[in-house]
Amino acid sequence: MNQNKLFYITRARLALWYAGVMGVILSLCGIGVYEAIAHAHWVAIDQELKSVAGTLHDSLELKLKQPGKIELIVKQLLPDICLANQKCLPTQTSSPRHILGATNQGIYYIRLFNNTGSLIAIAGVNPQGLSPIFKNQLWQTKKDNLGNRYQQISLSLHTQKNQDWGYLQVGRNLADFDNYLTDVRWVLLVGLPISMGLIAICSWWLSGLAMQPIYKSYQQIKQFTADVAHELRTPLAATQATVESVLRMPELSTKEAQDILKTIERQNRRLIQLVNDLLLLARLDRQAVPAQRQNCCLNDLVSDLVEELEALAIAAKLTLTSDLRVDQPLYVVGDEEQLYRCCSNLIINAIQYTPATGKICVILDCSNHHALIHVIDTGVGIAPQDITRIFERFYRVQSDRSRHTGGSGLGLAIANAIAQAHHGSLQVQSELGKGSTFTIQLPLSFN
Ligand code: ADP
Repeated sequence: MNQNKLFYITRARLALWYAGVMGVILSLCGIGVYEAIAHAHWVAIDQELKSVAGTLHDSLELKLKQPGKIELIVKQLLPDICLANQKCLPTQTSSPRHILGATNQGIYYIRLFNNTGSLIAIAGVNPQGLSPIFKNQLWQTKKDNLGNRYQQISLSLHTQKNQDWGYLQVGRNLADFDNYLTDVRWVLLVGLPISMGLIAICSWWLSGLAMQPIYKSYQQIKQFTADVAHELRTPLAATQATVESVLRMPELSTKEAQDILKTIERQNRRLIQLVNDLLLLARLDRQAVPAQRQNCCLNDLVSDLVEELEALAIAAKLTLTSDLRVDQPLYVVGDEEQLYRCCSNLIINAIQYTPATGKICVILDCSNHHALIHVIDTGVGIAPQDITRIFERFYRVQSDRSRHTGGSGLGLAIANAIAQAHHGSLQVQSELGKGSTFTIQLPLSFN
């Protein structure tokens, strides 16, 4: 499968998953909010009914005398009361004389039943479709034949002498409550797909962001593989050409054979060096800390290196010196071989990129519990646009590629990886035409 298509499909899948998970979470939140709103309203309705019924009950009970009889007090408290056997005009919903403000809203009704449970009077809005037979139950939710829902509370009434008078029932039409909940449901039903659309767009964008580092590192791996193949091809092609030219020769003198073998050996050595460098980088990538951990004396390391590489510097007509600006030996914990490699890469680079008669100085210093190794040269320097890239694997400044220093472009990447594996850093300061200073900073060991 085309790699770009694979990334595209993965991104789409990720976006779908994001959107799916967010959709489920949002739906659950929607249901939760709906249930909370419905519950809060239901509780408010019950409270209101309880308070209306309680007030009416307390006002009536103290004054009632005869069981099941609609007395004057009842008519005073409920001016629009209508006896069950009478025909009454529809209630004036805005009647200002009603004792209970809440029952003025045109949705409440009050029904009075005698002790046998027969309806004897009704006040407020008459719930036409409701059964006139009393059922002794505190709370009831009823539905009439028109589909209207009612919530009602029933309380028993007593006379002044504590005889059973009958029952008081206060109820209300639930149409406004049902309409409100229908509106909330519609808002959720319309809002959810719109939110899902927005979430889908955001998910696509977010999955793109999440894929970016993976895509970038995939591109880097692709580039790295191409670079490795390219670097391996050069010595292999050279060896192949040498072998082919030898095969074409009719006969070979010992001197010629030795020269050819030397060329092949040189190419082979380059290949081995390259493979070793790649293996070292792979190992450093895998291990955050060096496998070998010993106390390494940096004073010895710098002096040894300068001594060893002095011959190389003299051959290039350069002066290589060391300057140990510390009173006592500096120790760091780590892999001595790797630290040696890190410094030697920098000194060899300084030798390679400094023209004859130039100077190279290796300074050992310390500051803030860190050892500092500066490799200063008076060489060609590095342009600002290359400075940010020289630590990349296989990156070589263009002019140097043609100059063919023989380096693989891995030297600084290895030095940087080693410094980081030792919890340190590698920095560079350089000016084109004037020279460069590479600084390794390593944390000092405490013993
Ligand atoms: P190479 O094996 O080619 O030397 P490096 O990773 O060691 O690869 O260096 C990368 C590039 O950085 C080199 O090609 C060179 O152009 C530049 N460079 C490194 N050290 C110096 C230096 N001391 N002075 C100038 N340029 C340098």
